[in-house]
Amino acid sequence: MTSPHSTGSSPTPDPLSSLAELRCLDHAHFWHPFTQMRDWCASEEDPLVLVSGRGAILTDAQGNDYLDGNSSIWTNLHGHRHPAIDAAIREQLDRLAHCSALGFANEPAIRLAAKLAEVAPGDSLTRVFFTDDGSTAVECACRMAAQYRERVGETERRRFVAFDGAYHGDTIGAASLGGIPVFHGLNGAVGYPVSRFSAVKELEALDETAAREVNAVIIEPLIQGAAGMRLWPAGMLRRLREWCDRHDAFLILDEVMTGFGRTGKLFACEHEEVVPDFLCLAKGLTGGYLPLAATLTTERVFAAFLGRYEEQRTFFYGHSYCGNALACAAALASLRVFEEERVLGALPAKIAALADALREAKERCPHFGEARQIGLVAGIDLVEAATGKPLDWREETGAKICRQARRYGLLTRPILDTLTLMPPLCVTEDQIRDSVSALVRAAGDLLG
Ligand SMILES: *Cc1c(COP(=O)(O)O)cnc(C)c1O
Repeated sequence: MTSPHSTGSSPTPDPLSSLAELRCLDHAHFWHPFTQMRDWCASEEDPLVLVSGRGAILTDAQGNDYLDGNSSIWTNLHGHRHPAIDAAIREQLDRLAHCSALGFANEPAIRLAAKLAEVAPGDSLTRVFFTDDGSTAVECACRMAAQYRERVGETERRRFVAFDGAYHGDTIGAASLGGIPVFHGLNGAVGYPVSRFSAVKELEALDETAAREVNAVIIEPLIQGAAGMRLWPAGMLRRLREWCDRHDAFLILDEVMTGFGRTGKLFACEHEEVVPDFLCLAKGLTGGYLPLAATLTTERVFAAFLGRYEEQRTFFYGHSYCGNALACAAALASLRVFEEERVLGALPAKIAALADALREAKERCPHFGEARQIGLVAGIDLVEAATGKPLDWREETGAKICRQARRYGLLTRPILDTLTLMPPLCVTEDQIRDSVSALVRAAGDLLG
């Protein structure tokens, strides 16, 4: 008697038994981000283990397909396993995966810095500093702004202006600028001195003395993501730029979410023809393949850090994986895809399809309240059907609906009771309609 597992040739692993093993290991060791681990570990269901992808579709260990409805947390642009990006990473892998940028250089990082300076809004963002993720892109901008004021002797300009509901990342400096208190865990004990506002007119009401203390204003242009896909009024960004110009404050734009086509243009600030002093990019920079971020700034900022060695004007900041060659190769390939596949030109039809689908969904589902959209980014507030009032967030209705939507082939993650959709830019109009439908059906199942 020979058991099927002792035939000498390597046995094919049983996907289900290996899934049970993975679940065991996951529950024992993997602490997931922004996840209530008590519920996660108590779940009777196996975790959704994704094993492959193709275009906007992800496939789980049991062979089920899903539309990647939030672009793998706002990162993926041209789809999974895009041939050009895959090839660029493989090619680079055959040469060099990583080398330090502290005193050395590598070709993909050099070319990417030049390319980003070329595609950036305006012509003043010529200097590119690489870091690892959105949080460090923001850290880097703030640190540059703070060190700049020291270098030029404007030491009274210490204050940062940020907005209620803002999200700029999870490292201490970036988190201290955030306007969602539950995310900080800082109790105001550490971080930058911050003045927080909810509208540009509050900033415009500042007196001269207070305005002179402002180092920089930081904002997510046009739309706050983590706050629940909240749109700023049209013209707001332009007014912010004007206020910064009048008061010699820097404008830092956090385009970590909005960058690379999400809003219909390559960068959100292009909608209002605003050019910042610092532009923070991450999530979509590599097409959603590898962690990489960039902080772009001007010759004026760069020049303040130049001097004789012993003057210590150097920008004292950096990370081990600055300008990682694999990630930069992926980013260059992603930017080539924008050009070769005319990605931005294909967006208006998809954006219109999303708008139509949302309008129809509101008619079909009495629990859908306000639906906000810019480009291929959407947020739908869940409400009580009878009263139109918000739901009790403690019921986790948004999360339950998104879990149910998996049955209809959609993966996404809500922000409390706001359902969100942000599919990769390669999504088709049919896939857009299907994903909105999946949310309507899932909401119908749960709420009637
Ligand atoms: C996601 C996000 C960040 C943080 O980026 P990480 O890569 O998660 O560190 C910062 N700002 C905005 C607007 C974001 O959406």
